[in-house]
Amino acid sequence: MWQNGIRAGRYVLRHPRWAAGLLRAVVTGRSNRGYCAVCRRRTVFVEREPWLRDFYQCVRCHSIPRQRALLHVLQDQFPKWRDYAIHESSPAGAASIVLKRDCRRYIESQFWPDVAPGVVHEGVRCENLEASTFADGSLDLVITQDVLEHVLWPDRAFADIARTLRVGGCHVFTVPIYERDQTVVRAVEQNGKINYLQPPDYHGNPIDPNGSLVVREWGRDLPDYIRQHSGLVTIVLGFRDRSLGLDGEFLHVLISRKVGPA
Ligand SMILES: [Zn+2]
Repeated sequence: MWQNGIRAGRYVLRHPRWAAGLLRAVVTGRSNRGYCAVCRRRTVFVEREPWLRDFYQCVRCHSIPRQRALLHVLQDQFPKWRDYAIHESSPAGAASIVLKRDCRRYIESQFWPDVAPGVVHEGVRCENLEASTFADGSLDLVITQDVLEHVLWPDRAFADIARTLRVGGCHVFTVPIYERDQTVVRAVEQNGKINYLQPPDYHGNPIDPNGSLVVREWGRDLPDYIRQHSGLVTIVLGFRDRSLGLDGEFLHVLISRKVGPA
């Protein structure tokens, strides 16, 4: 027990800003106890900033709500996920660390434009989500976390994900969904160039210091779009349960299932 205390003390000394944020959250009441689906332990969730989507963190694993929602859905809907063939495109954050550690047949991929598809580069397979080299029907699950708002040809991406899934397999993913009905297309690719229909907006990207361009702000029509371009049948799950650290903006997990011939 006292060893845990010493370890915690060292962590606080090494991360003074993080510790100050934790102290402030506890003092101001912006924290609560609960169970974290990512580190699978009793924990405390702290609101380090008002934007809960990125700053309502588990003090143990530093996960954020959408990562806990994803692991919660996997555990709830796919309890054998550790035995599945999983492809995760563009992994990042606490949930990806757990998937890689606990799933025996987990394959991660990133996309580098100058590396051949299917080739392992810096220990990670290079794949273009719009045209991957995975064999037809070879995967049980495809996972993406906040990726599909950045893909220039999402119709091709959803179709290719469907191609790689076995019948009954699912694409499980997070993506910001806006409450309005219709998707807003912010940029398109035309003749190899990006045509901006809205002012450029970028999100952080772990392998690109310039960030990732937001191509689409998905609306409630997303399940129809997926069905139209891939045949996958989608349900959208929403969450609010502070005892599981699930609260905040754009907190949805989508499950798109490959249905078999009737
Ligand atoms: Zn945790």
